[in-house]
Amino acid sequence: MENIKDIIVYASGVNPEMEKTGKVLMSKYEFGKLLGQGNFAKVYLARDLRTGDNVAIKVIDKEKVLKLGFEVQTRREVLTMRQVKHPNILRLYEVSATKTKIYLIIEYAKGGELFEKIEKGRLCENQARKYFQQLIKALDFCHKQGVYHRDLKPENLLLDENGDLKIADFGMSTFLEAHQRNSLLKTACGTPAYVAPEVVCRKGYYGAKSDVWSCGVILYTLLAGYLPFYDNNLMVLYGKIYRGEYSCPNWFPLDIRRLLARILDPNPNKRITTAKIMENPWFRRGLYPKAVQMKKEITDVADDETAAVKPTQALAQPTYLNAFYILSLSAGLDLSVLFATDNSEKEDFKFTSMSSPSSIVATIEDVACILQMEIVKTDGGMLKLEWPRERREEPLIISAEIFEFAPSFYLVEMKKSCGDALEYQKIMMGHIRPALKDIVWIWQGEK
Ligand code: AMP
Repeated sequence: MENIKDIIVYASGVNPEMEKTGKVLMSKYEFGKLLGQGNFAKVYLARDLRTGDNVAIKVIDKEKVLKLGFEVQTRREVLTMRQVKHPNILRLYEVSATKTKIYLIIEYAKGGELFEKIEKGRLCENQARKYFQQLIKALDFCHKQGVYHRDLKPENLLLDENGDLKIADFGMSTFLEAHQRNSLLKTACGTPAYVAPEVVCRKGYYGAKSDVWSCGVILYTLLAGYLPFYDNNLMVLYGKIYRGEYSCPNWFPLDIRRLLARILDPNPNKRITTAKIMENPWFRRGLYPKAVQMKKEITDVADDETAAVKPTQALAQPTYLNAFYILSLSAGLDLSVLFATDNSEKEDFKFTSMSSPSSIVATIEDVACILQMEIVKTDGGMLKLEWPRERREEPLIISAEIFEFAPSFYLVEMKKSCGDALEYQKIMMGHIRPALKDIVWIWQGEK
């Protein structure tokens, strides 16, 4: 596994007192007010001098980390945040260090902690569902990559400026290699009220299942305004958790009670999974499939033209985006692009367009033609461009999909489906992007 030293960029000549307001880190980030404080770290608001945007800088005191024996947690936090990139997980942009401090440059969550919202009182069902949906989706994403958070609680859930949830604090997380994914974790982690029964009794436990339990406690707390398992005496509390002993307030609807019963099942083997939660009708309310095929014919494609140009016909049926997806997308749009120091990690390119779907497709096809790429797949409203295999060991396949924001306003998402990342970057930046200029209104990240 990667060593923390390998991923830290040592900044030379940095003043250890630099995190005072107005001081500048790496000639890029100007420190602002203190946002919060943990055991061995302080989190500051900072401004990226290149863009004027806000970021959060977590300043970790190396000496305290070593004294308290938190090297492993610190290393985990950095590695996990680098590993998981999701709209509902705080992004780690950069890591820097001096002899005494580690600086994590993180996405700024302007809305503060979800905990503060609950402190003001219980949330309405729709609001609670929205946070729960975002939490489960992000968690499902983590679990698929073998990452388990292990300390989920409202204090570790932050909100961005759009009110979207961001999972933070991966200090307790575990990252399992693919071959270990079914193995049992052995360390007792988490915060008492949110930990699963199998964690309480220190039997080995599966990270995914205990994360799901914590989500159940969070959902209950969001809806009720108080915890499902509570007692001043820790042993009594653990007993209640172990037996799954909780009761729902009378205003909880039946469908929520049923879902909670499936999540707060003390038997981890019978407990519902994130995948099954996402199929639950209460969970799905207000959500639409990410891409729903648009049924209506695109009127500006002439009949004879559609017959001749099949790919155009297939892709010229844009898919609708729901507001949830747009928000999560836009939250990631600016930040991911503005803070990318190089383009080597950027795998998707998005642009908005006011051209019709048929002319978007036709232009992409023209570019593919010029580059001698083949259009290999057109089902599901998606266009796939392939550079033939003879030219390289693995074919480079780029997919393009059109989404309709509003009538006459489209989002086009281009992604690498397979092939070499560098080659993909070269083609996108050097050929495809410039060639699409006539149909592009604005590229993602451009102001
Ligand atoms: P931590 O040490 O990660 O638990 O952070 C301490 C506190 O700083 C948190 O409880 C939040 O209130 C605040 N905080 C941490 N990260 C951020 C962030 N990215 N944006 C805004 N506030 C943050």
